[in-house]
Amino acid sequence: MGEELKEKLFNKKETGWKDVNESKKDDIFKMSKDYMDFLNTAKTEREFIKQAKILADSHGYKDIIEFDTLKPGDKVYFVNRDKSMYLAIIGEKSIENGMHIIGSHVDSPRLDLKPNPLYEDTNLAYFKTHYYGGIKKYQWTTIPLSIHGVIVKTNGEKIEINIGEDDNDPIFTITDLLPHLAQEQMEKKLKNGIDGEDLNLLIGSIPYQDEKVTEKVKLNILNILNQKYGITERDFSSSEIELVPAFKARSMGFDESMVAAYGQDDKVCAYTSLAAMMELQNVKNTAVCILSDKEEIGSMGNTGMESHMFDFFISEILNKLGINKPNLLDKVFCFSKMMSSDVDAAFDPIYASVSDKTNAGFLGRGIALVKYTGSRGKAGASDANAEYVAWVRNVLEKNNIHYQLTELGKVDIGGGGTIAYILANKGTDVIDCGVPVMSMHAPYEVTSKYDIYSAYETYKAFWQE
Ligand code: MN
Ligand code: MN
Repeated sequence: MGEELKEKLFNKKETGWKDVNESKKDDIFKMSKDYMDFLNTAKTEREFIKQAKILADSHGYKDIIEFDTLKPGDKVYFVNRDKSMYLAIIGEKSIENGMHIIGSHVDSPRLDLKPNPLYEDTNLAYFKTHYYGGIKKYQWTTIPLSIHGVIVKTNGEKIEINIGEDDNDPIFTITDLLPHLAQEQMEKKLKNGIDGEDLNLLIGSIPYQDEKVTEKVKLNILNILNQKYGITERDFSSSEIELVPAFKARSMGFDESMVAAYGQDDKVCAYTSLAAMMELQNVKNTAVCILSDKEEIGSMGNTGMESHMFDFFISEILNKLGINKPNLLDKVFCFSKMMSSDVDAAFDPIYASVSDKTNAGFLGRGIALVKYTGSRGKAGASDANAEYVAWVRNVLEKNNIHYQLTELGKVDIGGGGTIAYILANKGTDVIDCGVPVMSMHAPYEVTSKYDIYSAYETYKAFWQE
């Protein structure tokens, strides 16, 4: 009796794996294989957008600039300064009824080079860095790092850099103190163990062969770079060079149920939404996919979600549909629905004390819906309206998608934010949702293949609604 009643009334919280048969498992593993392959070619926001454009082009999407007019079924995109991208399929219903938007970000925590990065000390050459986003600095020493980015010369020539990913490439690293001499360092608080100014990348040690010249190792490095790329030291000032872990994305665990990779926040949601969008045809409501930049440092700047570039893209759609009129953009946003698809913190049994076990997100329990983010009293939260959460639940339940409703950490401990509030401020109904991640913002983050597939299914169902 009690068991029956419990079955009927309880919100069961179980691992999704328990209902996975062999054929579903094949689908789940196939999706994760494609995801890992994609990650290995797209570690930075520029690389992600480059690969996304290639994928979109091969699925019949075209730059919106190429269209004079738009009609239902048309597939368009806009690439914003090679760092962010918006894609859309025009729906059969009037866009005045609102759009179905999924928005993620493609930037991840990393180390950027300073504008004057190169120096020599005791016959060793270094690059100085300035970290990007919230990192635990000690995690970024003594791991293999690769160098990615662009150097733009004054004549406009853009040189793409990618060193450390190919097995034949050298890698780079930031050194740390040996334990034998680290007594003082070990007494420090963990956050002060490594200073930001000490995150310097070791890049060379052979001097230029000339007795008279000073800074011989720096000169030798610049000579190598000049021969390879035709650049001088001053060209670093117009460059964007990022240091990221040189690790490959790999299957994890004896059962291979998880993915370990750099940059899964938020490329796991970016990839799964992009993959879902590539399979869409003839949607009822205009489907929009946002791949934004600069989320990790507050979404500012003209490639971040706070900028008006997204409004420009939607205005162009309205113009090319031939229906634009004053304030229509506002109306479209007010009637739109959005999933702000960003990763959630996965409950970690080793660090259980920071989470409320009843409300945490768990690896393997499917997509995490986060009604509100923010921290300590919901500060800064975009809190999804109950009516909208019910609508989202209905979409998931009728598509048999396993989901969990979660909160990021204990009330007084901390919290986080996403791009949700930006669209919510325009009047759109927004809910945060995404894949739970362990070791978030670390050089190597962990996700469950089950949740990756669940995210993909969720995004597809949301757009097909
Ligand atoms: Mn994120
Ligand atoms: Mn993040």
